[in-house]
Amino acid sequence: MAPRGVPGLVPVPPPVGVVDALPGEGTGLALTIDDGTSSEVVGAFARFAQDSGVRLTFFPNGRYASWEENAPLLRTLIESGQVAMGNHTWSHPDLTTLGDREVAEEIRRNQEFLSNVFGVRDSPFLRPPFGAHDERTDRIAADLGHPTIAMWNGTLEDFQVLTPEQLMAAARRWFAPQTIVVGHANQPSVTTVYGELLELIAERGLRTVTLADVWATPGQRVRGTTADGRLTTG
Ligand SMILES: [Zn+2]
Repeated sequence: MAPRGVPGLVPVPPPVGVVDALPGEGTGLALTIDDGTSSEVVGAFARFAQDSGVRLTFFPNGRYASWEENAPLLRTLIESGQVAMGNHTWSHPDLTTLGDREVAEEIRRNQEFLSNVFGVRDSPFLRPPFGAHDERTDRIAADLGHPTIAMWNGTLEDFQVLTPEQLMAAARRWFAPQTIVVGHANQPSVTTVYGELLELIAERGLRTVTLADVWATPGQRVRGTTADGRLTTG
């Protein structure tokens, strides 16, 4: 099996606390794609990754059927290490407005979904919906196995519906070395600019990385699990 990671990039242990950029010097670009309200867009992102070799990190909400509908291809990409997954809660609430038990339930339910649908059991990453978090929600997340709160320092600005031109303007504004860029698998505009995104990435000398290429607990990278729980060696 081909190496799971990126040549020359050795992952370091996931930090406890907030990350909002890739550490140190380099040419990494972490494209992180959230939510998944549209099955069509989730499928397009998966095929984009498959066709281009782009490395992506998804932060799905398990409540959307889009993930299960596109699970076969996504599982293949996860197995090879080209795609990584983190927790974005089950139903996308503002965690800071919930009681402790509800916060834990939102995180745990999505963990079960990530495990059942994708065989992902050990992601250290939580991305709080709306970026809303505080010490209390971070502690609950850490207790449940997500010590690293994955924020961002670049954005496709697609919190709203954008034209393809607006999306590309955002990409030109934010694609830079060691950036974590947030985008969404919700609106179809992004699916029309994949070629332009690849050109921009190449033009700027960037290489895409998953968050798991950058941060992983020792031993995690040489193991994968199939959807039905069998251990595979990598
Ligand atoms: Zn979100």
